[in-house]
Amino acid sequence: MKNTIKLGKLAGVTVELNWTVLVIAALVTLSVAGGILPAAAPGYETTQYVVGGVTAAVALLASILVHELGHAIVAQRNGVRVERISLWAFGGVAQLEGEAETPRAEFLIAGIGPAISLVLGLALIYPASVVGGLFGAVLGWLASINIILAVFNLIPGAPLDGGRLLHAWLWKRQGDRARATATATKAGRLVGTALIVLGIVQFAAGGAGGLWTALIGWFLRGAATAEGSYSTIRSELQGVRVRDVMTPAGPPEGDWMSVAAFIDRRAIADQRPVYFLTGIEGTPSRLVTLQALAAVPIDERYTLSVRSVAQELDELPAVQADEPAADLFTKLSSRALTVVWDVSVPVGTVNAAQLGTALEQARLLSSLRGETATAA
Ligand SMILES: [Zn+2]
Repeated sequence: MKNTIKLGKLAGVTVELNWTVLVIAALVTLSVAGGILPAAAPGYETTQYVVGGVTAAVALLASILVHELGHAIVAQRNGVRVERISLWAFGGVAQLEGEAETPRAEFLIAGIGPAISLVLGLALIYPASVVGGLFGAVLGWLASINIILAVFNLIPGAPLDGGRLLHAWLWKRQGDRARATATATKAGRLVGTALIVLGIVQFAAGGAGGLWTALIGWFLRGAATAEGSYSTIRSELQGVRVRDVMTPAGPPEGDWMSVAAFIDRRAIADQRPVYFLTGIEGTPSRLVTLQALAAVPIDERYTLSVRSVAQELDELPAVQADEPAADLFTKLSSRALTVVWDVSVPVGTVNAAQLGTALEQARLLSSLRGETATAA
């Protein structure tokens, strides 16, 4: 993505900065330099307040990074790989690859973030009072914002840390992960709605910050809904792998054939939308679609080789045949054909429509199962 700047790697995890983080930085600088510092430590020059505001903004981002790094390190210790940490307009996200295997692991991964923020906040209170003056005021603000960060993140609604803690607790208590997800994401939507209402009331009462609260609420609601439906899909497609959903490749053809010969020999007789092609070396390295064949003008079909209208397999999006089919929901782009590989051998292709069909089938099957259960 071009919207992000890579900052580097920390504890083996890529740290990215989304440009929208400038929104928080600007808001924090404005409110700290313009209101909080002049009230807490009067008598300084405007430039000194601005430096204080910028310091506060940078220190806040560093605090959020430490919080996310906590999630990332504990996740890795519990066998969950971490793709990256991104900082953006609404704070930070540690993007985990997969999920915790036990409620205990999930509890630890979720709990460490707020714990770090709380400890950081409490630890800053004393230095803030000793230092005093403008810098003391910045430290004091940083202490309170870290405590607020801990408390806000503990609100029990997914995808907030508190929602994950709730999920882990329900999962352990009821022994049903999917049911716990449904409850935690429902709670997340409620929290989102509550924040939207609160923000609107705050704004109506003259507080411009209410808009920000409402925006956070709106984002939380959206994230909770997405997480809820993704989790439903995952449980519906349980046990279904990419290879069960894909179109298996037929025997590959030589890519030196003319388009006309290829249409005659394969495309008319077979019922395939896609063909893998081999070069002289004999391993499939390209694919051609019926669509690409049809697009070649009739008078050029005898002179053009099928290779010239083919796409390189390496340049197309790729998935592994043994991955869970549910993962395709986040991996498939809406238009492009995705190549399915069995380790390093291309075995088929998959697109969004096939995934949709697989989901409909799974729903149909589970409704039939429900019917038999009621009949018995
Ligand atoms: Zn967190």
